[in-house]
Amino acid sequence: MQQYPVIPEFREKYSVKVGGVTVGGGAPVVVQSMTNTDTAHALKTAIQIAELHRAGSEVVRITVNNEAAARAVPKISEQLDKMGIVVPLIGDFHYNGHKLLNAVPECAAALAKYRINPGNVGRGSKRDVHFTDIIEQAIRYDKAVRIGANWGSIDQAILARFMDENSQRKNPLPTNEIIYQVLIASVLESAALAEKVGLPSNKILLSVKMSQVQDLINVYQLLHQRCRYPLHLGLTEAGMGSKGIVASTAALAVLLQQGIGDTIRISLTPEPGESRTKEVIVAQEILQTMGLRHFVPQVTACPGCGRTSSDFFQHLAKDIQTFLREKMPEWQKTHPGCAQMQVAVMGCVVNGPGESKAANVGISLPGNDEAPVAPVYVDGEKTVTLKGDNIAQDFMQIVEDYIAT
Ligand code: SF4
Repeated sequence: MQQYPVIPEFREKYSVKVGGVTVGGGAPVVVQSMTNTDTAHALKTAIQIAELHRAGSEVVRITVNNEAAARAVPKISEQLDKMGIVVPLIGDFHYNGHKLLNAVPECAAALAKYRINPGNVGRGSKRDVHFTDIIEQAIRYDKAVRIGANWGSIDQAILARFMDENSQRKNPLPTNEIIYQVLIASVLESAALAEKVGLPSNKILLSVKMSQVQDLINVYQLLHQRCRYPLHLGLTEAGMGSKGIVASTAALAVLLQQGIGDTIRISLTPEPGESRTKEVIVAQEILQTMGLRHFVPQVTACPGCGRTSSDFFQHLAKDIQTFLREKMPEWQKTHPGCAQMQVAVMGCVVNGPGESKAANVGISLPGNDEAPVAPVYVDGEKTVTLKGDNIAQDFMQIVEDYIAT
């Protein structure tokens, strides 16, 4: 079984440019997401890309699955230009990428990166031919390429090779360890072929996605030791709602804490009618709660308990959180440093004053919120006590004034 050498820890990952965004080489971990519109519908797709980008997605991936979708890609770029949105687009190709990139050169040129799954480029002798074809397009148009293996569409030829080798071992490896080896071999062998064809090493990113948390951690730890290509992290098919969020966070937090991962995508299944932007917000919140990046002022809020006798406190915490997120795009231009600030919204005197004093700006209700009065703390000092019906608005004004000064 082929063993790949371990790369010494001190060797940084290559720095790859995806449009104007740098991934790897010590750059901040990049947030990305993916549309779920029919790409052939250019306007609808452009609107969703704009929505994802405004929510914080720094690059956006789109499905390019047929000629209509490929022909729509330059139109999507035009629509984004008209909206004033500048965001690198990644084309997600399976099975027919070689044909589409050749047939629609405007698509090949408009994309910033091509995503290829080595398990889905072709069978047998066609596999390397199709793969090489795509890499030649990337070279021609000076594009980055993510070589992304996924355990659900594993390269059958490599799997057969490893299973055969394993059957001859005295102590065969368990199936999940074979899968790790197959995924890693799949992307590293493809990356070696891409470089042989002429794609520079600083144009290549890798991913090896699995859907179980422990598997994902294990396979990325192994891959991280064996290459200098930047790694795209994501728990594939994470699922819906809290399960998807918790599973993605559990897996990615462990890896990110170990310095593994250069760009992340949270693959959440949206509820019917739910906005796609949730996956972007979750990705940002993972990075921000870990202290790796700062996107929006962080709200420290207690959960509330029997001391908060109405829902006033919950409304206050929610309104302030929403206010901060909605104002951030504007503040990003004028006061980008405010993303580092802490805002506390606390329900009673038990922990309220302490947390409020520790925050840049904090509000602490007295516990009985039937007729609420709320002392406000700025940089640790009590400055004013808010009362009446406009406590939330008055507090937001205090936060806004603090940011402006
Ligand atoms: Fe309950 Fe007060 Fe603690 Fe909030 S700060 S959870 S209201 S005891």
